[in-house]
Amino acid sequence: MARKLNTMTVQRSKRLTDHMVRVFLGGAGFDELELTEDTDMYVKLVFGDPEPADGRPTLRTYTIRAVDREKKEIALDFVVHGDAGLAGPWARSVQPGEEVRFLGPGSGYRPNPEVDWHLLACDEAGLPAVAAALAGMPADAKGTAFIEVAGPADELPLDAPAGIDVTWIHRGVASDELTDDNAGDNAPLVTAVRAAEWPAGRPQVFIHGEAAAVMHNLRRYVRKDRGVPAADASISGYWRRGRTEEGFREWKADLREAEAAAGSAL
Ligand SMILES: Cc1cc2nc3c(=O)[nH]c(=O)nc-3n(C[C@H](O)[C@H](O)[C@H](O)COP(=O)(O)OP(=O)(O)OC[C@H]3O[C@@H](n4cnc5c(N)ncnc54)[C@H](O)[C@@H]3O)c2cc1C
Repeated sequence: MARKLNTMTVQRSKRLTDHMVRVFLGGAGFDELELTEDTDMYVKLVFGDPEPADGRPTLRTYTIRAVDREKKEIALDFVVHGDAGLAGPWARSVQPGEEVRFLGPGSGYRPNPEVDWHLLACDEAGLPAVAAALAGMPADAKGTAFIEVAGPADELPLDAPAGIDVTWIHRGVASDELTDDNAGDNAPLVTAVRAAEWPAGRPQVFIHGEAAAVMHNLRRYVRKDRGVPAADASISGYWRRGRTEEGFREWKADLREAEAAAGSAL
């Protein structure tokens, strides 16, 4: 990921649902962006001093939901998850004119026109990346997308090919109200993906959301049980229940270490 610090300016924001707000960034910094054709481009927003004494700026990671090259703007969609954290509450009340600094973009996925079908799955945090992936697919793309949100009012319009069957899954509570009964292995997204028919042919898989559901469950299902090779599987946790982004980074490092020790890295 580009380590260069970029600066853009908040142009406006728009409340998409009770649990999602879109922030448009523009200004001179647009021309500095190293954009690619990948659909999962993300930036690391810097909160506070970008060069603190300990060398570790406070970062929060967000997907570039859309790029408007004419207006020279990018759109980021933030999950509003109560008062906890930095980025969620910031996005809820941000005003035009505010300067935003970030690292990136980084990226790693784009829909492959060669595959037979696509499997996409996400929760609210992965929705901007899944929405961008669907918008970037060829018109004849086929497959299935599962999107877990709180309820019907959280569904967003999507620009998806007709051959992609989109299923919205309503868990009944917001992502900041998850309990052991509807998170991790018990997430409705996990049940839906595991129950889905697996068509013949080569799939490309894109699954991102809460880390226990994704990394402890769906990744193993897709990679081991279904045998999808790493090159065709973009699967990662985007956040971890009960952990800040810093705490989540530690969780990921621990998981990598445990998998390496057990010789079970996927
Ligand atoms: C590559 C990548 C792309 C991402 N893209 C997006 C994106 O486009 N939109 C987006 O909203 N998020 C996205 N995320 C997830 C986002 O970075 C995390 O949710 C981040 O923790 C939010 O920071 P915060 O300051 O709001 O909360 P933090 O300070 O990190 O955490 C505070 C508390 O809020 C909880 N929390 C964090 N996120 C959520 C959530 N989504 N729902 C409920 N509780 C939460 C934490 O568990 C913690 O208890 C992405 C993550 C990655 C790795």
